[in-house]
Amino acid sequence: MLRTAARITQRSCRSQPRALATRIASRTFSASRTIADDVRPTSLDVLTEEEKMLKESVARFAQEVIAPKVREMDEAEMMDPEIIQKLFEQGYMGIETSAEYGGAESSFTSAIIAIEELAKVDPSVSVMCDVHNTLVNTVIRLYGTKEQQDKWLPLLSESKLASFCLSEPASGSDAFALQTRAVKDGDHWVINGTKMWITNSYEAEIFLIFANIDPSKGYKGITCFLATKDMGIKIAKKEQKLGIRASSTCSLNFDDLRVPAENIIGGEGKGYKVAIEILNEGRIGIAAQMLGLAQGAFDKAVPYTFQRSQFGQPIGTFQGLAFQQARAATEIEAARLLTYNAARRKEEGLPFAREAAMAKLYASEVAQRVSGAAIEWAGGVGFTRETGIEKFWRDSKIGAIYEGTSNIQLQTIAKFIQKQYS
Ligand SMILES: Cc1cc2nc3c(=O)[nH]c(=O)nc-3n(C[C@H](O)[C@H](O)[C@H](O)COP(=O)(O)OP(=O)(O)OC[C@H]3O[C@@H](n4cnc5c(N)ncnc54)[C@H](O)[C@@H]3O)c2cc1C
Repeated sequence: MLRTAARITQRSCRSQPRALATRIASRTFSASRTIADDVRPTSLDVLTEEEKMLKESVARFAQEVIAPKVREMDEAEMMDPEIIQKLFEQGYMGIETSAEYGGAESSFTSAIIAIEELAKVDPSVSVMCDVHNTLVNTVIRLYGTKEQQDKWLPLLSESKLASFCLSEPASGSDAFALQTRAVKDGDHWVINGTKMWITNSYEAEIFLIFANIDPSKGYKGITCFLATKDMGIKIAKKEQKLGIRASSTCSLNFDDLRVPAENIIGGEGKGYKVAIEILNEGRIGIAAQMLGLAQGAFDKAVPYTFQRSQFGQPIGTFQGLAFQQARAATEIEAARLLTYNAARRKEEGLPFAREAAMAKLYASEVAQRVSGAAIEWAGGVGFTRETGIEKFWRDSKIGAIYEGTSNIQLQTIAKFIQKQYS
């Protein structure tokens, strides 16, 4: 295992000195996978040394590599392939994956912090990294067999982008009413159906596909398959969106897609359990994306309010603006504590579905409110595309929709209340 890690480090060193530092840092602290083993933080937002190092490294990467390309990518509605490649080189696409498989072997909270830092600069890059790490990698890490992990985790850590394919034209919030079918044919399964709204799918090479192998069993027939693009996955349509425009979202067609039986992840009929558990965790990732987005909009707009003067004084010193900013800062702080709390609970093995739903619900509301207010704080300038503030507002709308709409989060929270009080 150590030899493998050293090989990865040497290879990174030749191409990316900073990636080396990140990877060495990850390796140095790789033994401290949970907070319990490390110095226990005294407050939710006090980070471990490992988390601090990762946060600084991702923040630097976001400023140096992503920031110069944000507007161009948004207008072209396309992710720059160089950014995807560099995310892999830096080790950000296998944050929790073990070093044996080329990952950074870091904690779940580290992944959440990376998603937050990326979203401060570009929520599109953030969701790409989020889906790859918290949905796809985690499914293989938790439910894959040893052979599946040996085969797929190194590829997912080092070079191949992935998608999580659950939603369909007729099944969104009611995800387990999916109609994609898989039928056994010798040592393969043949999949037919259409998936919709699939993040990363334009660039992805690995796909987790949820299909029903026995509709008579309802959701108990749902099974998770791993397919690769070259098996014949077809992009039917690339969506044109309001926000996160550089993040690809496509409909996919499967016409007699033949997937080897050995590519079932988690067992036949176990797809429901896999999806439900992983989406609980994924919601913390979306909360982190929305949290970073709110902070990014705030950080862009507030300095302007102290540079711009009207009526002989900086506009940020008028109580009308200052109090709005104070409220926004408080809401961002509350969203951060909810998000980190859900992440720490997950990491500690405590129940976290309620906390994850609350974090996603609230962080997505804060993201919309703060990015909307930030436009107004900058006046006419905030309304132009030059500052990038309006982009944060456009990007914020999706937080209330994907990985469970706000109503679905409320439904989850309400169920906990009913269980406790009725
Ligand atoms: C940009 C983008 C990226 C996405 N990425 C992925 C991805 O990578 N993989 C994937 O599988 N899916 C993805 N999705 C799909 C996403 O998860 C769904 O859009 C979402 O779950 C909502 O489903 P829907 O769009 O069908 O809306 P619907 O389910 O039709 O909901 C429409 C409205 O009805 C409300 N509603 C529905 N049911 C109820 C109820 N029981 N009570 C109260 N209100 C209700 C909803 O809250 C919403 O306001 C993505 C979507 C988008 C837009």
